[in-house]
Amino acid sequence: MYIISTKTMLNKAQREGYAVPAFNIHNLETLQVVVETAAELRSPLIVAGTPGTFSYAGVGNLVAIAGNLASHFNQPLAIHLDHHETFSDIETKVQAGIRSVMIDGSHFPYHDNVALVKAVTDLCHRYDASVEAELGRLGGQEDDLIVDAKDTRYTNPQQAKDFVEKTGIDSLAVAIGTAHGLYTAEPKLDFERLAEIRQQVDIPLVLHGASGLPAADIRRAIALGVCKVNVATELKIAFSDALKAWFASHPDASDPRHYMVPAKTAMKEVVRKVIGVCGCEGKL
Ligand SMILES: [Zn+2]
Repeated sequence: MYIISTKTMLNKAQREGYAVPAFNIHNLETLQVVVETAAELRSPLIVAGTPGTFSYAGVGNLVAIAGNLASHFNQPLAIHLDHHETFSDIETKVQAGIRSVMIDGSHFPYHDNVALVKAVTDLCHRYDASVEAELGRLGGQEDDLIVDAKDTRYTNPQQAKDFVEKTGIDSLAVAIGTAHGLYTAEPKLDFERLAEIRQQVDIPLVLHGASGLPAADIRRAIALGVCKVNVATELKIAFSDALKAWFASHPDASDPRHYMVPAKTAMKEVVRKVIGVCGCEGKL
């Protein structure tokens, strides 16, 4: 069984003081890069897809490719539903073999968020799938959803305690000043708030929006209890910039077996860097 939940891997990360990266992937090539690199570095691995990614590539296709790569590299991994929002969508994908879920009800009023997350958690635990939920709200763009800075809300530590108790989730995504997409100004993370959340909540914490964050900030967040670090934008930019540069210097290129190579190489460097910052090399 190569497609696993994140429960054991994140609990180990929490005990040993490192984080597991969740890399957003979109297709065969990006899956190849993350699985191959994690295997080389003996790193635990979460591959993540938003609803838009699963619609684009096909749930069965991504599960099959990830499963084949995991088997080939002898690298158990979690396929993670990033920012999924509906019970029925999650149920379908868990039944297709996925064992790691984020249910994002952060846009709902608190009580509705609790009710939705509790229902999804009860469902997922019947399949031995792990559940992450978000309290507070990140700014920026994720998939096709844009959240204005004025609609951003930080996680309340007391409410986090209540939320975890009422829902039974396995990990909690916190809003402490990170944003999705690229940062236009230097982010200021609220580490005091993170420390307070850690005091109130004993499950692994998750940091979204790590693309472009200084490594020192990510390491400090890990020291304060973050066990999963999400990276999406930085991978896409490395991949597409290298692809654009290749076509600029090879305008007649038409063979994907050639033009995908520099893109994969550039993305691989980001994956290696993130694994280094997370401190998870050799922790598989
Ligand atoms: Zn996110």
